[in-house]
Amino acid sequence: MNTNTKKILVINSGSSSIKFKLYEDKKAVASGVIEKIGEHTSKIELKDLISDKVEKRDEPVPNHQAGINVISEFFQDSGILESLEDLDGCGHRVVHGGKNLTEPCLIDTNILKEIRRVGVIAPLHNPAHLVGIKAMISAAPEVPNVAVFDTAFHSSMPNYAYMYALPYEFYEKEGIRKYGFHGTSHSYVSKKAAEFLGIDYDKFNAISAHLGNGASICAIENGRSVDTSMGFTPLEGLMMGTRCGDIDPAIISHLARISDYNTEELDAIMNKRSGFLGVCGYNDLRDVDTQIQSGNEKAKLALDMYIYRLAKYIGSYFSILPRTDALIFTAGVGENSDLVRKLVCNKLSHLGFDIDEGINEGLRGKLSLISKESSKVKILIVPTDEELEIANITTSLINNA
Ligand code: AMP
Repeated sequence: MNTNTKKILVINSGSSSIKFKLYEDKKAVASGVIEKIGEHTSKIELKDLISDKVEKRDEPVPNHQAGINVISEFFQDSGILESLEDLDGCGHRVVHGGKNLTEPCLIDTNILKEIRRVGVIAPLHNPAHLVGIKAMISAAPEVPNVAVFDTAFHSSMPNYAYMYALPYEFYEKEGIRKYGFHGTSHSYVSKKAAEFLGIDYDKFNAISAHLGNGASICAIENGRSVDTSMGFTPLEGLMMGTRCGDIDPAIISHLARISDYNTEELDAIMNKRSGFLGVCGYNDLRDVDTQIQSGNEKAKLALDMYIYRLAKYIGSYFSILPRTDALIFTAGVGENSDLVRKLVCNKLSHLGFDIDEGINEGLRGKLSLISKESSKVKILIVPTDEELEIANITTSLINNA
């Protein structure tokens, strides 16, 4: 048992990318991303966070194994780490744990099999994570690997919250139910918020709004997720940068009937061509904002829809929680957009969400209380840090192994 764990690598591998961050005693010392793996030319960006040196280059990286080698060489060349074997552990972000992998765990052959099996319902993510995990295992066979699932935090949802009102056999045979995502972020920011407010986490009730390019909201009761807006896939729920969120499911069968779109195309429309992008042609809120300033009415409509839908979700979670201690804003939009925070809280002021507009204005990416003294619900900005949470979980799992 190693009780003095120091060096933890966090890996998030996609089908053609690897993102990584290296921690030494919880401090990030290096990070980077390799994109377009397997293409003619790949994009490599490597950062030494101690010396602030950034290395960018374009060169072919044929597969994930070669990507791990690029990272290993970078660690050696910059003197950060002599060998990947010197790591105390490696934490992997895994999007879907399915209904069996409900907690982070040390990876062994059974866990690999289960991640692969769950790939049927997460085809864009789990197979890509497996490739990254296997590349790491083969580069440093002695280093323990940990899987941290985006779905795990939501495994505490009651059955009446996670079931869809479809024939029961779809749940039994195909595993069709709400799983929820962004769990690592919701868990991290809600723990931080409870600590900041001096409330015991197991007595803490909150609504956590992770508003990034992807967005989800979570109702937390006594430190446990009891409902969340994303569902069987990360498409359900809030309106997002390019995803539609909640729609009438019959729209899809209608489109399939009246057009030539096949299943893949319909999936792509809902995931990549909808949301802010679909309504106004811009998916980044900063661009939407600029467009609104110059009188673009579709951009204004898109923002109005976003705020309205967000307020409806917060209101519905407020109604199912017996008490709401805090509303938490996090991720790109939640941490940076004082406009979104102001507009949504103003819609909810009658429920006791009383934002201090003076404090809120201009605040970015800083853990802060932004509600008035008199506000019934505390409103906070809590910067998320999913990689640090994965590093922390990895450290505690290997310390306890
Ligand atoms: P994330 O997925 O958490 O990285 O969030 C990315 C999104 O955050 C971007 O697409 C923007 O819409 C939004 N964002 C980032 N910075 C700002 C900002 N300063 N103001 C408004 N929105 C921002």
